[in-house]
Amino acid sequence: MVTSYLGLGSNLEDRHINIKSAVKKISELKETQAIKLSKIIETEPIGGPPGQRKFLNAVLKIRTNLSPATLLKELKKMEKSLGRKECVRFGPRVIDLDILFFGGKVINTKSLKVPHPRMFEREFVLRPLLEVI
Ligand code: ADP
Ligand code: MG
Repeated sequence: MVTSYLGLGSNLEDRHINIKSAVKKISELKETQAIKLSKIIETEPIGGPPGQRKFLNAVLKIRTNLSPATLLKELKKMEKSLGRKECVRFGPRVIDLDILFFGGKVINTKSLKVPHPRMFEREFVLRPLLEVI
């Protein structure tokens, strides 16, 4: 099994329920165990359109036998089923699920970049990540 860290974010509708529902769905994925969820923190939106609501962010540590591509596909399915519509980059969203790390792998395909390229400048990712690492 590979250890992976997932970034979760929400700033629309019931943000707390959105994060919790995503955690539940991830823990129910086949060949995957949820290991540890960070505290859920409230953070200022960065980039994106002005005036959007604050985010709730958290990081979930998992262990999985899924491939990175399958994991990404499953996360995108969950984003959809939790009600995420197409949205502007860095704009408001019901749920955002990002793969931060996948073992020690470096992945650089069109649809998947790991480690997540913008995580190192984002306190709202790094702070919860430090708690679960
Ligand atoms: P962001 O999370 O940067 O605000 P989106 O959630 O809208 O942007 O994701 C846009 C695309 O980013 C996804 O369709 C996905 O294919 C791609 N992507 C690239 N690397 C990753 C990653 N590490 N985790 C999640 N999505 C990624
Ligand atoms: Mg994303």
